[in-house]
Amino acid sequence: MVDRDKSTATFSEQEQRQFMAAALEESRMALPGCLPNPPVGCVIVRGGEVVARGYTGSPGTPHAEAAALLALGLDADGDGLTMFVTLEPCAFVGRTPSCARTLVRSGIRTVFVGTLDPDPRNNGAGIEIMRAAGIDVHVGVLESTVLRFLAPYLLSAQRT
Ligand SMILES: [Zn+2]
Repeated sequence: MVDRDKSTATFSEQEQRQFMAAALEESRMALPGCLPNPPVGCVIVRGGEVVARGYTGSPGTPHAEAAALLALGLDADGDGLTMFVTLEPCAFVGRTPSCARTLVRSGIRTVFVGTLDPDPRNNGAGIEIMRAAGIDVHVGVLESTVLRFLAPYLLSAQRT
């Protein structure tokens, strides 16, 4: 029998869309406080259930990914956790640390991303940081729906 990656195998395409929709729902709460940063949302799933949620707060406060990890508790073991996040986690350090690096440190094994971040400081770099650290990253879940909501906010030059 082929040894499959269980963390990935446990999510059907329907479940992937369902959890990304939950992340998108969360992201709506980011507006308007997050501006000029994009309204990003995420959920952390364990055992088929959402165990933490996060959305991007006002500039200088944690982005969605860090907010969800904080909600989960700093001592949480990332093993067995999967994150669904609407936008590629940031590779760059602005007023907050890089979310891609924060996810690597968290020990999370699998990340589903709605869409890539066209910001030139990111644009695939966040995905690369996570993959280089061995995280199983999947891009493009519910992408057209996510983009319809996010697109107007993605290329603000004032992002931090
Ligand atoms: Zn970030």
